Amino acid sequence: MSETSPKLRAALDGIPTYRPGRAASLASAPGAAPAPTPYKLSSNENPYPPLPGVMEQAIATAGSLNRYPDMACTALVEELADRFGVPPAHVATGTGSVGVAQQLIQATSGPGDEVIYPWRSFEAYPIITQISGAASARVPLTPGDALDLDAMAAAINEHTRLIFVCNPNNPTGTIVHRAALERFLDRVPSDVLVVLDEAYCEFVRDPEVPDGVEIYRDRPNVCVLRTFSKAYGLAGLRVGFAVAHEPVAAALRKTAVPFGVSQLAQDAAVASLRAEDELLGRVGCLVTERARVLAALRDQGWTVPETQANFVWLRLGEHTDDFAAACEAAGAIVRPFSGEGARVTIGETAANDVFLQAAAEFRKAL
Ligand code: PMP
Repeated sequence: MSETSPKLRAALDGIPTYRPGRAASLASAPGAAPAPTPYKLSSNENPYPPLPGVMEQAIATAGSLNRYPDMACTALVEELADRFGVPPAHVATGTGSVGVAQQLIQATSGPGDEVIYPWRSFEAYPIITQISGAASARVPLTPGDALDLDAMAAAINEHTRLIFVCNPNNPTGTIVHRAALERFLDRVPSDVLVVLDEAYCEFVRDPEVPDGVEIYRDRPNVCVLRTFSKAYGLAGLRVGFAVAHEPVAAALRKTAVPFGVSQLAQDAAVASLRAEDELLGRVGCLVTERARVLAALRDQGWTVPETQANFVWLRLGEHTDDFAAACEAAGAIVRPFSGEGARVTIGETAANDVFLQAAAEFRKAL
């Protein structure tokens, strides 16, 4: 028997690992009363539990878990096509929008190619790019933590295959306006795919932020990514989708993991679309909370970029890890990016209060 291990692709060497937002668990001192469960404000999840109707549908579908799901996601695709006024052939589903993003890279990019994305942005971009063997071209954010579309356009070269535009941007919450996006898109060659990652679009209230689905209609090289994980509150079910012209949508069907989206996810997503008014009402409450949290942080003396997503960004630099530890000790788990800043999800009012109190105390001690 040989001593060598199976040959793995060199592209996997040094790949960054995805760090999920830490879960809620606090160790208490031996003999002490159990510590209260802290609030998890680290993964941009929706704090509301599933709506009763969505839950009932999921439970009903669970009765058929011995069966494979509908591989084509027919009912969900039709519901989405109807909802957005696009042909069903332009809708492609996947295991969360991160799954669809990975398929888009698989379909467009490999060794010798380049993928452009802003940085810092969604932490899966470098991972899924590197897995493909393509090179990353990271374009730094502006000093105000927004996407630098001019620099992104300047980074395009003959190797570029795909560009991510994260709007609003994770983790900074900053946005790109319609006019600036259109100007940028005019500069992108028509054989380069632009992915408008709109995971948080339902939280946007700024009317100058475009709806990617309107932008895609006249632009065959634009693909819109959306998810049921945030506003629709189904993060645990893993379902997202893209709206794109052929041949991009067809490429997504080719690269899909067969039966990747469970029937539970499909049926719960359809039920959620049908309960959209109620779900978007909850989003409205979170948007109100967002304004309250932002104002309170600024009152405390923090400089916080305007956010249109369900989180806020504090550029804490060297204080980031201490800040995260202080929040955790107070009962709120945030998402630190060591040496850069912390992203804090807008949760239920009580959770936001715990976070605000911790932020105030940390600020005083600075
Ligand atoms: N895009 C962005 C910008 C995100 O922040 C996230 C979730 N963190 C995703 C995509 C992926 O979400 P999901 O796979 O749950 O749809």
